[in-house]
Amino acid sequence: MGRKTANVILNTAFGQPTIAVDTHIFRVANRTRIAPGKTVLEVEKKLERFIPDEFKLDAHHWLILHGRYVCVARKPRCGACIIEDLCEYKQKTET
Ligand code: SF4
Repeated sequence: MGRKTANVILNTAFGQPTIAVDTHIFRVANRTRIAPGKTVLEVEKKLERFIPDEFKLDAHHWLILHGRYVCVARKPRCGACIIEDLCEYKQKTET
């Protein structure tokens, strides 16, 4: 079983606070600089270190949804993003 799958199962089925880094989370973590890293594992380790325990269960859903609907791959919707003032992405868009 892959690490990501294992983390998703631990998180959703057993309520364990883990972060399963997928393509959306990887992108958001790097653009915002919340947890920059060259590999999925590097990002995962940083997120697990920096996200407080009480938010870990929900954090991966929030990050995935943010990446899927706002911080989208080709053209992020920075103008409509609620964390635009906190995000360190250098190429923010107007829309
Ligand atoms: S400001 Fe832009 S790049 Fe930063 S998180 Fe929001 S949508 Fe993504």
